[in-house]
Amino acid sequence: MKNLRSLLLLLAPTLGLSMAHAQEGHTDIGGPEGLDIFEELNDGDATEVVLEPSNATWDVNDSLTFIPGYDMYCHWNTDVLFDRVTGSRLVAHDTLKLLLGAHEHDLTMPCAGEVTSGYGMRKGRMHYGVDLDLETGDPVMAAFPGMVRVSKYNKTFGNVVVVRHYNGLETVYAHLSDRKVEPGTLVEAGDTLGSGGNTGRSYGSHLHFEVRFLDQPIDPALIFDLKNGSLKALEFDIHKGTFAHMAAAKAAAKSSQSSRKYHVIRRGDTLYALSRRYGVKVSDLCRINGISERSTLSIGQRVRYN
Ligand SMILES: [Zn+2]
Repeated sequence: MKNLRSLLLLLAPTLGLSMAHAQEGHTDIGGPEGLDIFEELNDGDATEVVLEPSNATWDVNDSLTFIPGYDMYCHWNTDVLFDRVTGSRLVAHDTLKLLLGAHEHDLTMPCAGEVTSGYGMRKGRMHYGVDLDLETGDPVMAAFPGMVRVSKYNKTFGNVVVVRHYNGLETVYAHLSDRKVEPGTLVEAGDTLGSGGNTGRSYGSHLHFEVRFLDQPIDPALIFDLKNGSLKALEFDIHKGTFAHMAAAKAAAKSSQSSRKYHVIRRGDTLYALSRRYGVKVSDLCRINGISERSTLSIGQRVRYN
């Protein structure tokens, strides 16, 4: 289950990111219980001997050693999916080279399904991941080795698992029907995290899969060849521009929001009358307002017509 070689490989590029460590002294950060990975470091041909922390309360130095990417994040939150503040630290740095693997097949696709919805703007909102087709119950697997940071139920994401990888990337697996890992679980690429499903804000079984770095979303299609299930390149450059699309998308969403036009229903109004008046097909009116052609309109109701 543990592949020492790939671990060391991903451990190696822990980057030139030096940050002031925000936390000092003892911090309860919910570390792993089973530390087999470190025993492996001891009995393999690795030279360094790493001692296990002796109790459940870890201090920052323990975190630096045991938690993937801790030196970049300076925190390990097993409850909050993303921390908006962390990502803003990235701006100050130059290009970071993340090593993804030694071979383009050094990963496992989280599930076998095709992409049903890509990353980007969707119905006026940002879609921060890709949707991959699956059947409820299909295994969902970790893309890279790492440590599970979050495993919980969330209103939007349903049953969701977030894995922190050794190069600082995090991957997110949402709408699962069940979860088989806990925060602190060490995983290899290909280990099952849970089963695919349709929980949370989801319409039909699928996997919502995200890739993030310092809590900022990255289009998975930049890293993975989603069709062939391989890496696009062995390294991935992260720089300010990697996230520039975020600001652009937010601005676009805002302007599309403000240009929306509404008709307030008065006595006698019908969808057909609105259709003629604004030159919009009845089916389009129904779609953008989430109503059916037979819906009853009530006086004072706002109906969007563009
Ligand atoms: Zn999605």
